[in-house]
Amino acid sequence: MRRELLAWFRTARRALPWRDHESPYAVWVSELMLQQTQVATVIPYFERWMERFPTVYALADASEDAVLQAWQGLGYYKRARALRLGARRIVDEFQGEVPSGVAELRSLPGVGPYAAGAIASIAHGVPTPLVDGNVERVLCRLFALRGDPTKAPVKKRIWELATGLVPATNPGMFNQALMELGSLVCRPRAPECARCPVARHCAAHAAGTEEALPELPKRPDATPLHMAAAVVFDEKRRVLLVQRSSDATRWAGLWDFPTVELQGDESAERAAARAARERGGESLARLTWLVRVKHSVTRFRVTLDAFASERAQRSRASGPAERSEPRAWVSLEELADLAMSAPQRKVARHLFERERERDRCPASPSPEDSARTIAD
Ligand code: SF4
Repeated sequence: MRRELLAWFRTARRALPWRDHESPYAVWVSELMLQQTQVATVIPYFERWMERFPTVYALADASEDAVLQAWQGLGYYKRARALRLGARRIVDEFQGEVPSGVAELRSLPGVGPYAAGAIASIAHGVPTPLVDGNVERVLCRLFALRGDPTKAPVKKRIWELATGLVPATNPGMFNQALMELGSLVCRPRAPECARCPVARHCAAHAAGTEEALPELPKRPDATPLHMAAAVVFDEKRRVLLVQRSSDATRWAGLWDFPTVELQGDESAERAAARAARERGGESLARLTWLVRVKHSVTRFRVTLDAFASERAQRSRASGPAERSEPRAWVSLEELADLAMSAPQRKVARHLFERERERDRCPASPSPEDSARTIAD
């Protein structure tokens, strides 16, 4: 089975940028980026990252802002911070070399059992297994494993099977082949058993149960999250931004137009005024609806209504914000240099287009007149 899988992988493997980089640093970066994120999404981020932080030393020296800015839009920002902190530990404790032992790798922030197995086997040739969602699915089908693979007994069995399969030579290649099979052939729905290189070894295929495995629990429905943002302009047409604290539940450390979640039956406009007051320290007399942005993040379906307030609409009663978050007034051009979450970035892009349109055609109707919704 191993031989047949490896022969298939040599011809079917996708050309992915991290496969061109032999360095353990590149493997470590790619593995953290790929957690819960699709390959196609990661590719441009990985390429830009390697240009900006080509070595572990460059990453260790980078500021948190620079790292978050390079990561923005990729989601799960804890991973970006974990890479930066991990780089510092690698420089301080491992002489700048990404370690090869699973235990040392597990001691780095953000490196779980899967990533440790991937880095050890792919970057250092250590014969150690890995189990990600693809491998879990392939093994459940190959061995016709019943039961919920998110529960301990089945999970343990899958790791045992992966341990028994990984060869002493080319373990990294074998592990990648298993993952590639799950990505390209043994997909969650409609696996292509007719072109599967290991179909004759597959118990689920023999029993005709491949579509019923693995027996994953039903995913909970996405939770709607309604938020409102206040885009406050000053007399120089700069906008007010606030930085979320580093222990915020969502989008920690990123920059926002002052934004809050709607409470109870609060209207979006009232919530935007509250956001300006509580997070921005600005009391606003009047707000104009600007844009609605929709975005899915983790298990939440975010709707963000943004409202604008021009200088003339700001009350003189502005004062300190109720929360002590850093605040900054920045030009629309400078917004591009700050790390923002995907929904906030969409609002920023809308603003940028709006201003450009105004510059090009000052007499055109204000975009506030034409309601707009930006979806995922
Ligand atoms: Fe997956 Fe089908 Fe191959 Fe079995 S035969 S490993 S179910 S693609």
